[in-house]
Amino acid sequence: MKLSTKSNEHNIPEYSLTGDLLSFLTCSLQYRYQNKGALPPSRPLQLWFGEFIHGVMEEAYTQWTLKKTKFPWDWLKDIRPIEEKIDRRMQARGLYPPNPKYFTPYRDVAEETYNEVPPKRIISTRIENSINLWGKHLFPLMDSAEVLIKGLRKMPSEDEINKRSEFYCVNGVIDVISSLKMSSSLKDNLIIEYLEKEEFYNENHLNSEEEYEIIIDYKGMKRPKYDNKTLENKSTWNYHEWQILTYNWLRSRQNNSKKIIAGIIFYLNELLPSNEDLLVIKRDIINGKTDVEISEEDRELIENWDGTEENFPKLSDSFKLDRSIRIVEINKNKTDEALSEFDEVVKNIEKSTLNESKGKSIKNSWRADGDNRTCDACDFKNFCNKQGDNSFKFLTIP
Ligand code: SF4
Repeated sequence: MKLSTKSNEHNIPEYSLTGDLLSFLTCSLQYRYQNKGALPPSRPLQLWFGEFIHGVMEEAYTQWTLKKTKFPWDWLKDIRPIEEKIDRRMQARGLYPPNPKYFTPYRDVAEETYNEVPPKRIISTRIENSINLWGKHLFPLMDSAEVLIKGLRKMPSEDEINKRSEFYCVNGVIDVISSLKMSSSLKDNLIIEYLEKEEFYNENHLNSEEEYEIIIDYKGMKRPKYDNKTLENKSTWNYHEWQILTYNWLRSRQNNSKKIIAGIIFYLNELLPSNEDLLVIKRDIINGKTDVEISEEDRELIENWDGTEENFPKLSDSFKLDRSIRIVEINKNKTDEALSEFDEVVKNIEKSTLNESKGKSIKNSWRADGDNRTCDACDFKNFCNKQGDNSFKFLTIP
C-alpha cells in the first residue's frame, strides 16, 4: 500500500523563539548538534536553572494567590517546599540538578538527611531573593503566567525554488502578563516605580484609565553586556529586546490581549551572581559596558575585589535590583525591526538546513560562531571549526 505524504504547503517549519532562534544566534553549530541532532548538553546547569526558576516562580505565584502569605517569605517554611516540588517534578522527567555545590536536591534530603535542615546553596538563595525582592512587587500585578503564543510569517528565502514552505510558524511562551491600569493602590510598587523612570511610559500612560499589558520574562543569567557606541546587531543585549518585541507582535494578535506598552526582563542571577558571573560583571563595569549606574561604594567594592570566593563582596540591594531589571520600550517600528531580524535568522537556519540536505558536511553548513564564554562551556569545542580552522567561511551551494 502506498502511504500518502503531506504536501509541501502543509509542512510548515516551526521555530521556537528561545529554543531555535536565540539558540542559533548563540552559536549555529552548537544549535545544530544540540537541537537538530538531539544531543543534550553534558553540563546543563544554565538550562536546568532556567527551567527550575520558571517552575518555582509560577508555583510561588499560585501559592501566593491561594494563601496571600506576607513577604518576606521564610526560606525553610515557605520556599523550600516549592523547590522540592519543582525538583521532584523535574527529576521525574530525568532533569537532575547538575551539582550539589549549587543546589541541595530533593533526593539528598529525603534519603540522607531526612528531618535535618537542608543546606541552602547559591540557587536557593537566588530564588529566595527573587521571591522576596521582586515577587512581592510582581505577584500583585500578575494576570496570567506561561502564556503560549504562536503566529505564522512568510518564509524568507534566497532560494525560491528549493524553499521548504511558503510560511513558517514562530512560537514562544510568555512567562508573565501583567494587566493593569494606573491606580493609587499600586503607588508603592517598585516595578511601577522603575517603569515611571522611563520617559516613554510616562508620556503615553500616566493619565490613561485604559487597561494595558506588560510582558515579563525571567532569565536565569546575568545582565548582558551593553555598549551604546557600537551597538552592533549581534549582541545578546539586542537579542533579548527582539524576543520581547516579537512576543508583543504575537500577543497583540490574540483576541483577549490589551494594549501592550512595555516589556520587563528580570536577570535573576544578578540577585546573587556566581563567582564567575561577578568576574564578568566586574569586567563590564571596568570597561564601561553597562547601562546601569552604580554607587561609588559598590564600584569600589567591585574594583577592589580580588576575584576569589572568600572575598566575595557584599553589594548593596540597589545594585542588585537596578542590574536585575530591564525595561524594554515597545512600539511598532522597533517591533517591525525585531521581526525582520528574526526573519533573517530563520532564513539562515533554512539555508544551513538546505546546504546539509544537499550533501555539505555539518561543519561546512553551520557557522561555528560562539563567543568565548559559550565555547568554554561547549561540549563540541574539541572538534568544531572555530578551534581548528580560523578561516572557516559560510559556504553556500551554488
Ligand atoms: S566550541 Fe564554540 S564555536 Fe564551536 S560549536 Fe561550541 S559554541 Fe560553537
